[in-house]
Amino acid sequence: MEGRIAIVTGSSSGIGRVIANDMARRRARVVLMSNVPGDLQDALAEVRLLAPESIAIEADVTKSDDLSRVVDQVMDVFGKVDILVNNAGITRDNLLMRMKDDEWDSVLSVNLTSIFKLTRLILKPMMKARYGRIVNIASVVGATGNAGQANYAASKAGLMGFTKSLAAEVASRNITANCVAPGFIRTAMTDKLNPKASEAILSRIPMGAMGTPEDVAHAVCFLAADSSRYITGETLHVNGGMYMG
Ligand code: NAD
Repeated sequence: MEGRIAIVTGSSSGIGRVIANDMARRRARVVLMSNVPGDLQDALAEVRLLAPESIAIEADVTKSDDLSRVVDQVMDVFGKVDILVNNAGITRDNLLMRMKDDEWDSVLSVNLTSIFKLTRLILKPMMKARYGRIVNIASVVGATGNAGQANYAASKAGLMGFTKSLAAEVASRNITANCVAPGFIRTAMTDKLNPKASEAILSRIPMGAMGTPEDVAHAVCFLAADSSRYITGETLHVNGGMYMG
């Protein structure tokens, strides 16, 4: 990834932070982005050990002005964007009968609408350069559904449909668009699960273990590589065999 400029949203923690590090290790210059300034600076310090020219931009993906500011700043500093990883995502779980409008709206806004808006902005320089790699982080539940996650599953299933349509529109310009759909990944969120809940999850995974953020980052870097030029509109599942698409 030498010479490549990669934007990774939601890279202050969890999976996004590991993706940013993995890309930096492969010599991309990384633009980290998140709405949590303290963590973002910590993540930038880490990434700069591997890719010193990387930058961090505090931005809320649900704010259109923030998204325009990010793209303007990246173009000012680097003059191009080669790779976009739409990773920022949230959950607001509830059974459908109890789900509040705000729980639905906020999940759709962060996990789907923001990706439409940021991708639309990024396409302009990518189309001009006739090069781009877009990787969207979906989820296994976008394919399977999950009780208590109608909002989240809808956003991730929507993301897969969005990605296929996008892929068809931009393929002739040497731009690919794919999804990576993680299963259960060990992060701060899953570390908090009680032993019974963990056991229930593990019983559904043929490999008998949760994945790591590194497992997801590996799949993202594969799809974002120059050499993945002929793979587009796909969803790569990273789930230890829990769901075989
Ligand atoms: P996380 O909570 O550790 O990280 C989410 C990141 O998104 C953070 O950096 C946060 O600051 C950022 N973010 C959230 N809202 C934002 C906003 N409005 N503006 C800017 N940034 C915002 O979560 P994670 O587990 O690392 O999840 C990363 C992605 O992976 C998400 O899209 C999630 O849906 C997906 N995913 C995670 C798992 C899992 O098991 N952890 C499984 C499947 C899919």
